[in-house]
Amino acid sequence: MKDPDDLIIIEKIKQSRLPETDLSDIKFGTIFTDHMFIADYRNGRWEKPKIIPYQALPMAPSAKVLHYGQAVFEGMKAYKDAEGNVFLFRPDKNMKRLNRSAERLAMPTVPEEYFMAGLKKLVELDQDWIPAEYGSSLYLRPVYYAISDEIAASPSQDYRFVILASPAQAYYTGDVKVKVEEHYSRACSGGVGFAKAAGNYAAQFLATEKAKKEGFKQIIWTDSKTHEFVEEAGTMNLFFRIDDTLITAPTSDRILHGVTRESIIRLAEDNGMNVEVRRLTVDEVMDAARGGRLMEIFGSGTAATVLPITGIGYRDEYYELPEPQVNYASRLKKMLMDIQYNRAEDPYGWRVPVVLKKQ
Ligand SMILES: *Cc1c(COP(=O)(O)O)cnc(C)c1O
Repeated sequence: MKDPDDLIIIEKIKQSRLPETDLSDIKFGTIFTDHMFIADYRNGRWEKPKIIPYQALPMAPSAKVLHYGQAVFEGMKAYKDAEGNVFLFRPDKNMKRLNRSAERLAMPTVPEEYFMAGLKKLVELDQDWIPAEYGSSLYLRPVYYAISDEIAASPSQDYRFVILASPAQAYYTGDVKVKVEEHYSRACSGGVGFAKAAGNYAAQFLATEKAKKEGFKQIIWTDSKTHEFVEEAGTMNLFFRIDDTLITAPTSDRILHGVTRESIIRLAEDNGMNVEVRRLTVDEVMDAARGGRLMEIFGSGTAATVLPITGIGYRDEYYELPEPQVNYASRLKKMLMDIQYNRAEDPYGWRVPVVLKKQ
């Protein structure tokens, strides 16, 4: 790979906004660092990428993304250890997934060196924005969208790829009650559910807002055809612990292939937990709940890492999960975070250093 300084034009901010920013009290996704990465695709080729001060980017009201939703994104984090070293976690996975999403939406793939060099340079440049507490991080949001200003319903000619960075604190976990959804669907076979396509999230807002009015925080999506099988939650994959077995649905074209999910499966297997990757019906989950055998449910995703579910609602039933004696969710969360924050050995090579302070 070329030196990022050659590859990327860097225009630094004149005065950092960091001194007037309170990193100890952040609402997720509302604060952005001094810089952002941007690369445009025009006339069939990629233009020279840039890092510039965070700013609004003008766009015509005829821009295709607004009309046809040709947009995909990613979500990942940079983590800081006690010495100030900074790491990414399996960024190659996000890069490949972004391009799988792009292909599904008939968009050109983003050159891998732009993605990786842009990410690393941006994180390095804005490293002082990363809160140092265990659990806090710098959330990174690559977003890729169609900018041709014409409204013919066909793929755009021009695109923009941007990476934003947003400091984040440990995810607040209060009660997380989830509801099994049987009417609305997030994804369908042959559709775009496996992609991080912007429209997938708009499609779930209404159902989620309705569930919130009933006191739930998230929805458990079921398969769109029969609504008999549990699939995933809004922005998380799901794990169900029945007795001492962890069960998670296999990924498909309706289920997002989560990096956290994959890492959790690996950690669970390598630490002697029994894991089954298979389809799982709502009936099986509810039968286990009624019989006292449903020990845990948790979500996995970059934002929350591992999020324990406290209760599950299905039709007229509501089941409160027990406080488990042996807690798989918290064990797995700690194992994963210790790798991310450089507190444990990383036998898998998942941790990618971006900034290494000299001793
Ligand atoms: C991003 C996302 C996940 C979690 O993926 P991670 O790579 O673990 O962050 C799960 N489900 C959906 C629908 C998502 O968009």
